[in-house]
Amino acid sequence: MKKYTFTNGSELPVQTMYCIGRNYAAHAKEMNAVVEEQPLIFLKPSTAYCSNNSTISIPTISNEMHFEGELVVVIGKDGFDISMDEVDSYFAGIGVGFDLTLRDIQSIAKTKGHPWAVAKGFRHSAPISSIIPYSPTMNLEQLEFSVHCNGSLRQSGKTSMMERSVKELIVYVSTIFELQQGDCIFTGTPEGVGAVSNGDELIIQLHQNDVQLRITIDKN
Ligand code: MG
Repeated sequence: MKKYTFTNGSELPVQTMYCIGRNYAAHAKEMNAVVEEQPLIFLKPSTAYCSNNSTISIPTISNEMHFEGELVVVIGKDGFDISMDEVDSYFAGIGVGFDLTLRDIQSIAKTKGHPWAVAKGFRHSAPISSIIPYSPTMNLEQLEFSVHCNGSLRQSGKTSMMERSVKELIVYVSTIFELQQGDCIFTGTPEGVGAVSNGDELIIQLHQNDVQLRITIDKN
């Protein structure tokens, strides 16, 4: 079973990965989409996880793999229908990751009304950094991250730009799904997503802490 690594050396098995779509208005706009009335949710299998410094191949079924840099929240205990008052106790930690997306496959799925499982859940579609253990002193409303591709800045994210806060997302997801320890939530991507090619190096960095995720795109 795959495991998250925490910055304090602890580990946690990776379980279900819940992903939020269109949580930043500017990204919804660049996709010619609107922010939904309810959060848009899709899943990745736990085996889609990979760790820092992974080399990731563009699947042969696609000609267009995009990076989407996102803040990732790891859930620390089981829960259903979690209230805003108690949500703090459900955090295990915070990290950053890429919601890698086969944009060509996703576009066809959107047109046909088909699920996004292939476009979003393929092997290695969820690289995640090491995880900073949660502390109530973390200001979740003021986190910032950036994405560089081959050294040039491509995405800048601030949790203050989210349509729905990290805590609101956990509360909402838990009204539908039974969360368990080791689940994570990809909280959506800001504008600036783009395609990758073999040889590219992608880095996503969480500014407040010395945590970054580096991946390279290449043939296996
Ligand atoms: Mg995404």
